[in-house]
Amino acid sequence: MTFLIDTLAILGFGLIGGSVAAACKARGVARRVIAVARSPQTLRSAYLRGFADVTTTKPTEAVQEADMVMLATPIGAMVGLVERVAPYAARGTIFTDVGSVKASLIEAVEEVLPGTLPFVGAHPLAGKEKSGVDAASADLFEGRKCIVTPGSLSTASAVERVVDLWESLGAEVVFFSPAEHDRMVAAISHLPQVLASTLVHAAASTRTSTGPALAYAASGFRDVSRIAASDAEMWRDICLANREAIKEALATFETKLAELTQALDADDERGVTEFFRLAREQRALYFP
Ligand code: NAP
Repeated sequence: MTFLIDTLAILGFGLIGGSVAAACKARGVARRVIAVARSPQTLRSAYLRGFADVTTTKPTEAVQEADMVMLATPIGAMVGLVERVAPYAARGTIFTDVGSVKASLIEAVEEVLPGTLPFVGAHPLAGKEKSGVDAASADLFEGRKCIVTPGSLSTASAVERVVDLWESLGAEVVFFSPAEHDRMVAAISHLPQVLASTLVHAAASTRTSTGPALAYAASGFRDVSRIAASDAEMWRDICLANREAIKEALATFETKLAELTQALDADDERGVTEFFRLAREQRALYFP
């Protein structure tokens, strides 16, 4: 049997890293997967679930044996890890990542990686509000898009290997520049996360005589606030790494909200109807 990757070292073995490993195993994409995390519980789970052949808390050892290294920790830990492991990686080892923000991360990684180690940024548009390896699954990327954002350390052959990897895991690869990626995900992923958490704050601080309004929330609220259950540290890192694009998305949101407020102030029935009708129409184009 020939494998696309001989040894894949995954640094950070949670929902995404674990799912990449599970899919690699299920689809025969990598001969060997090395799981790297800090806690023995994460590594035990990775091994017992059959996602990893080897587990270690030592990233410097893992990269020595790898032909591809995937960064799958929270974003804030990635650059420090790259700096730590780069001296141990063999020339030509391909570095890639799954981080939800690209421009600031790629710029920082390119500063610490030597030119002998190609780097190709990637971001699978797939996830859950649950974290950790126990939430991982082999089918997470099937039919989902994976954005690939080549940079100055991305050789053509490394880009090809990373594209082949994601396609082998069932994803459709789309290319973006890092900056365009960040603006796009700010609108469709980071802004919704900020809004879901803000909705919960607003409902929790709206008091009734018997407690917070949140206590009476039903299925509609549950649906729109589902992602507010996501990991706080992960979202801290994403917001800090993509703050300008998120602020731009918030400004667009405020403009749209102001249009509704204006229509309400003017008692403009048609304007209010149009606000909801247009949103329903545009949503139906992509979620029929
Ligand atoms: P997660 O489930 O919390 O997993 C993070 C993993 O990293 C855990 O295994 C954790 O295990 C390990 N870890 C944390 N700090 C580490 C460090 N300094 N060194 C080594 N391992 C470390 O997070 P995730 O949801 O998989 O997200 C991982 C990355 O994927 C993030 O960069 C995120 O932006 C991106 N992403 C997330 C989603 C999503 O929906 N969740 C979607 C696409 C991309 P230990 O605590 O045992 O070390």
